[in-house]
Amino acid sequence: MSGNVLDADVGIVGAGPGGMAAAAALAAAGLRVVVLDEAPRAGGQIFRQLPEGAHAHLAEPPSHDAGHVLLTAFAQSRVQLVSGATVWDVRPGRLWFEHDGASKLLRCQRIVLAPGAYDRCIPFPGWTLPGVLTAGALQVMVRGFGVVPGQRALVVGSGPLLLPTVTALLAAGVKVVAALEASSRWRALRALPAVLGNGTRAREAFWYARQLLRAGVRLQWGWTVFGCEGDGRVQRATIGKVDANGRPRRDTARTIDVDVVGAGFGLVPSIELGLRLGCRAQWNAVRGGHCLVVDGEQRTSVAGVFVAGEIAGIGGSAVAIAEGELAAAAILREVKGTAVPSAVVQRVQRERRAADAMLAAFAPLPGLHELAQPDTIVCRCEDVPLARAQAAAALHGDSLRAIKVGCRAGMGPCQARICGPSLQALACGQHYRAMDLPVVQVPLKVVRSATIVDAPTG
Ligand SMILES: Cc1cc2nc3c(=O)[nH]c(=O)nc-3n(C[C@H](O)[C@H](O)[C@H](O)COP(=O)(O)OP(=O)(O)OC[C@H]3O[C@@H](n4cnc5c(N)ncnc54)[C@H](O)[C@@H]3O)c2cc1C
Repeated sequence: MSGNVLDADVGIVGAGPGGMAAAAALAAAGLRVVVLDEAPRAGGQIFRQLPEGAHAHLAEPPSHDAGHVLLTAFAQSRVQLVSGATVWDVRPGRLWFEHDGASKLLRCQRIVLAPGAYDRCIPFPGWTLPGVLTAGALQVMVRGFGVVPGQRALVVGSGPLLLPTVTALLAAGVKVVAALEASSRWRALRALPAVLGNGTRAREAFWYARQLLRAGVRLQWGWTVFGCEGDGRVQRATIGKVDANGRPRRDTARTIDVDVVGAGFGLVPSIELGLRLGCRAQWNAVRGGHCLVVDGEQRTSVAGVFVAGEIAGIGGSAVAIAEGELAAAAILREVKGTAVPSAVVQRVQRERRAADAMLAAFAPLPGLHELAQPDTIVCRCEDVPLARAQAAAALHGDSLRAIKVGCRAGMGPCQARICGPSLQALACGQHYRAMDLPVVQVPLKVVRSATIVDAPTG
């Protein structure tokens, strides 16, 4: 490294399962690999590690066995991990990042993007009250920082992420008053063949079932949250049943006392880095929305740019690890002429098939967009209520851009990561259509303006 410029054969964004798997395999083959991750330690979302020296006794599901193997291989490899590095701009062969308060640049021959995903938010009255968090954020608090977020929790949403949220809260000593899955039991049963046909997923499902049984928590199918209330922070939640499309059945509403709510309606692939590079993306509702398009070996449409994990569509850690290994094999083929093992390709296909089948059973229910009322905030960065977003759509048109320009929704610090995935559906009432591709702006993440001004060139 000279000054604030680093050089590598391969630059990787993300030290989650996808990025770590690619990095370890590339370093083992003798390539110089630098991994940039804004988190303080490697692991990504699922294999998140507590800060150095901190201890927590959280029971772990079977999928974490693979995580320990990967974390060890990664730590023992010659990979250079730069933790606390926020990548805010990218071009082919160049990654600009902020680290330790300085503006830095990584120059590399090839890039692997493995930035993961973020929680899908579906607004409901009171979702902006303190104490109401996304399911993922609750997990980060408990598993990443050892914080006990409250005493009586409600967990709501849809999809496999609800279960780790419930077990993390239970392990932290929080009473889970209710766990509500919006999908019906019958819809979820469609996932059964995919779960039972995959040894790891089956063990995982049984592990979670045992944990819930032991704690006396019953997952209520076809239920969700209608709203939250409280004086300064959440104190009560109104819950009720939804129909097969997720529409609230108001006649079933009842109120429960809670002091923390975790809401997780699935995940959305984090594709901004890929869009900035000009990589092709396509809509895939089952895999979480817009995903980067890859060939059979994790190559994007831009030469020298590969991806692994959720950025190519939500799939879970087994998919991410397999895709990381495949991306590494594809790079080694280009650099060293070694063949891509067919077993690696087949593993990706097998894991993707299983993940798709499972996620199809929990695909977002459009009727959940009817939870929001006219005065419900839909863009929390710019304080835009639903009625204003709808008026903007009526006046300016129903494209994402027209709605943003018309009411400023999506223009705040999160750059539409929170409101974007639901904004068009909410503003236009066209719940079933594919959303427009977001337009990305630099900086891709919030960094100091000095970081942008001082960005190294070269
Ligand atoms: C909050 C959250 C919690 C989750 N918890 C679970 C769970 O308990 N169990 C489960 O099965 N699945 C969980 N998932 C799903 C999980 O993301 C995947 O299954 C798996 O971790 C995906 O691996 P990945 O390598 O694609 O991405 P991730 O594991 O998400 O890793 C991506 C990494 O990229 C880094 N990153 C992203 N953007 C930048 C940037 N611009 N600059 C620098 N670094 C960046 C992030 O800090 C992160 O460490 C969770 C997802 C989220 C969003």
